[in-house]
Amino acid sequence: MPLNKNKVLVVGMDGLRFDRLVALAPPVLSSLMASGAYGTSRLPYGEAAAPRTESPGEVVPKSPEPPSAGRVIRSRTDSGPGWSSIATGTWPDKHGVVDNSFTSPQFTKFPDFLSRAKNARPDLTTAAFLSWAALGEHNAFGPAIDHRMVLDGYALTWTAADRQIADAAGRHLADTGPDLAFVYLGDTDEVAHALGPHCPEYAAALHAQDAYLGRLLDAVRARPGESWTVLVTTDHGHVDEGGHGGTSPEERTVFVIANRLGEDLGGRPLDEPRLVDVGPTALALLGVPLDPAWELDGEPLFNSW
Ligand SMILES: [Zn+2]
Repeated sequence: MPLNKNKVLVVGMDGLRFDRLVALAPPVLSSLMASGAYGTSRLPYGEAAAPRTESPGEVVPKSPEPPSAGRVIRSRTDSGPGWSSIATGTWPDKHGVVDNSFTSPQFTKFPDFLSRAKNARPDLTTAAFLSWAALGEHNAFGPAIDHRMVLDGYALTWTAADRQIADAAGRHLADTGPDLAFVYLGDTDEVAHALGPHCPEYAAALHAQDAYLGRLLDAVRARPGESWTVLVTTDHGHVDEGGHGGTSPEERTVFVIANRLGEDLGGRPLDEPRLVDVGPTALALLGVPLDPAWELDGEPLFNSW
């Protein structure tokens, strides 16, 4: 009997605080954690003292997990740097996005992991679904991706944009089963900016995104002959009153949840999974060799699965 074909779905939920995720226990994410592997780490960057300005980041004096000795990464703990790090598998000093202005991105030298997959193996099919338009406009997830849907959450409202993204992604996953897909959902961040991450509205946004995730999982589970790995992550946290950009543990704590659908990993811990590990993990699962010339900062996570 032939082996099932490995496929990977990465779902990003913006501004999702892991402690709130654990406390609110949405059913789908809780189930992925219980039968998967997961852990947290802290972003090795952040701007001290001015979390909501537009200015580029200050130095984080001492990172708990510097990518290399003596390396200093100047960046705010904002969405642009976070998703660009997830996309490229490199930190902001390489990909060049240090705040949400995307002033000098280096996505030609450091393309997203879906584009890497496509470039390395043109037979692989890729898809990205984004409700934050900046990620498409600035090519954090670039035009080499086979199927790219970009909506503007600010224009549509985030609840509407996320719903349309989830609907379209669910249909695409069900109908074509791309080898590698990325789905971005943004309402958790929008609500936390307005009201903080401790309100009923934040819980409602998380539960809505959790339900969307459930439908994406249903779509891929229904496809025969495929072995899906699902990774869920976020780009930064929030301070209690809402907002990010700074250096607090609440802003810098991020998580990765990994689940191989149909296998029980028992909720084991991942050892400080970093945002830059997400792309390399996806590529390795697809059998794409990681070229040292790519200068990736991340590495595959499954040694600790
Ligand atoms: Zn964000």
